[in-house]
Amino acid sequence: MHETMVAQSLLAAISIETEKQNGKPITARISCGMLNAVNDEVLGFAFEAIAKGTVCEGMKLQIEHKPMQGRCKDCDKTFEFELTSPYCCHCGGDRFNLLPDVPLMLEEIEFEAE
Ligand SMILES: [Zn+2]
Repeated sequence: MHETMVAQSLLAAISIETEKQNGKPITARISCGMLNAVNDEVLGFAFEAIAKGTVCEGMKLQIEHKPMQGRCKDCDKTFEFELTSPYCCHCGGDRFNLLPDVPLMLEEIEFEAE
């Protein structure tokens, strides 16, 4: 039921923005980290259900999953952490700290051109 809560807060945020823009929203771009695992499809359905009858009815959500970031303990650079190759891409080191996951964020709303 995590997705329903996410959908509700997205709808609230988009509605506020829509009032300011005075247009009809078509698409919203959202980004979130890997650990903040939101199921795209479930979120889409949840959003569709609560957006019915509002100005957001029929709009699409585009969800972009951002990779985890690691900071290498050897060369102190940050890199995109991948489960399949958990090494620093700068020096090949395998000693690193994982940085906090990216929170779910509303990046951009596209409005219908009048
Ligand atoms: Zn390194």
